[in-house]
Amino acid sequence: MASEFALIARHFTRPTSHTELGVGDDGAILELAAGMRLVVSTDMLVAGTHFLADTDPEALGWKTLAVNLSDLAAMGATPRWAVVAVALPDADERWLTSFCTGLFACAAAFDVDLVGGDTTRGPLNLCPTVFGQVPAAQALLRSGAHPGDDIWISGSPGLAGLGLAHLQGRCKLSEPALTDCLAALQRPQPRVALGAALRGIASAAIDVSDGLLGDLGHLLERSAVGAVLQLELMPEAASRACADPDLARRCLLGGGDDYELLFTAAPSRREQIRSIAARLTLPLTAIGEIVEGDGGLRLLRAGQELPAAAYRSYDHFAP
Ligand SMILES: [Mg+2]
Repeated sequence: MASEFALIARHFTRPTSHTELGVGDDGAILELAAGMRLVVSTDMLVAGTHFLADTDPEALGWKTLAVNLSDLAAMGATPRWAVVAVALPDADERWLTSFCTGLFACAAAFDVDLVGGDTTRGPLNLCPTVFGQVPAAQALLRSGAHPGDDIWISGSPGLAGLGLAHLQGRCKLSEPALTDCLAALQRPQPRVALGAALRGIASAAIDVSDGLLGDLGHLLERSAVGAVLQLELMPEAASRACADPDLARRCLLGGGDDYELLFTAAPSRREQIRSIAARLTLPLTAIGEIVEGDGGLRLLRAGQELPAAAYRSYDHFAP
């Protein structure tokens, strides 16, 4: 394997735009703007667990950073910096070049400086850590939902799960749905602008990485509340994309990899939220209500109760 120093110098060193000291010393030096708090998150991607081993490396580079930026978006934080640790089975320079093309495309799109990296030999494993800033006391937390709040979801949850199902041969999508579903799976768009716009408006937020019901469950637990969801209010993109209504519903409710934001807000915020949707040209859909409770989640369709737990436990890597 080429030396670690050569790999870092060749692939991970690019000019920075807002960093006091980036790659090249023992550590980076970062300066926060006055009144800002640092938000830090890390999310590891392991071949075979989080992505298929033959995934296009450029798409993987984008996704590796994008899924981490999604966590910052869910906090209402503005991404600023990232460091990336990479384990590679061998020194495949072509793979690394392509991976870094996607990684730096995502970094440029969201104004993130890459300020450190580490490479080592091992099973393919990608581990970014991202750093963002948020004004003091304005971060969006999972713990702020109140009974009576509306529950909102951004974008079109379920498309990434359908894209994966297609690649695994579990369904056959036709154009143009296939293009949309593969884009959602391979080039997720972290909802950074939405997260920032929701500061002071949303009462709680989380990004949907493991599935809508599962991630809503985390928010409910942290807020010590329950929820009632209405299936007929949900975005229809997944059911329009797929001829199999059961698979479409499973991907909508339990498919991972969506990276949409799920958030709660008082009903008095509806007009503000609709104007954010218009300004960002991003659909924001109210899908239910927070109720008193201890994390319990009810899923209704035309007044009939559906088994939420069955959809929540859906494993998108199951055969
Ligand atoms: Mg998250």
